[in-house]
Amino acid sequence: MNIILLGPPGAGKGTQAKRIVESMGLVHLSTGDMLRTAVKNKTPCGLEAEKLMDRGELVSDFVVMEIVSERLDERDARGGFILDGVPRNVIQAQMLGEALDEKGMSIDVVVEIIADDDALVERIGGRFACGECGKGYHKEFKRPEVEGVCDRCGSTKFAVREDDTPATVRNRLKIYHSQTEPLVQFYEKVGILKKVDGMADIDEVAEQIENAIKGV
Ligand code: ADP
Ligand code: ADP
Ligand code: ZN
Repeated sequence: MNIILLGPPGAGKGTQAKRIVESMGLVHLSTGDMLRTAVKNKTPCGLEAEKLMDRGELVSDFVVMEIVSERLDERDARGGFILDGVPRNVIQAQMLGEALDEKGMSIDVVVEIIADDDALVERIGGRFACGECGKGYHKEFKRPEVEGVCDRCGSTKFAVREDDTPATVRNRLKIYHSQTEPLVQFYEKVGILKKVDGMADIDEVAEQIENAIKGV
């Protein structure tokens, strides 16, 4: 099963992708995570991406699709994958389609997570993650079970994303509406789009996604 999770920043793509990975054994391909790793390692592509990411602008389609295409060639992707954060515009969707065709792969379902802009600003404002294993939390909606200790790995170090500032978030939402949202129609036309209500709580959204996937 190959899935695209589509939705604005803060909609819960990463949170839900990690749950699907645990329940279905798919690999999680997050372009945001891949780019953050490239930035941290100061690779040529990381150096190019850093400033754009800080401003909430999109990184070049070619850079991103090159990384995605290479990742899809790794053996584990053959067992099924979830794309999180890509495609982000119609050109990327076309490039992805071509790359998958060449590899003899295809997308089975695109799940759109719908949420209000106001809620997204609140979610991103409270987002933090384990500094060791990357598990995601929220100041208000998803605190660790034991205060200050990661549920998954026991680490006491947490980190906030540098691009989760109010100004950057506003820019990312604007770009989502102008460039990424047209993909809803794009995949509706292909006939593989399913919508879920991202305003529900985390467990409920997970259940809706499970049902959407089951129907495929
Ligand atoms: P995305 O990957 O789409 O940017 P995340 O999965 O990182 O979004 O979620 C953004 C923030 O909102 C995180 O802090 C996460 O814990 C929280 N969150 C995710 N889904 C929900 C939900 N359904 N209700 C409330 N908070 C949520
Ligand atoms: P969120 O889920 O909160 O929107 P991501 O982690 O998906 O954030 O992306 C963080 C940043 O990485 C984006 O603001 C953008 O600069 C860059 N990025 C991630 N995926 C892509 C992509 N497919 N194309 C271009 N830029 C991307
Ligand atoms: Zn952890």
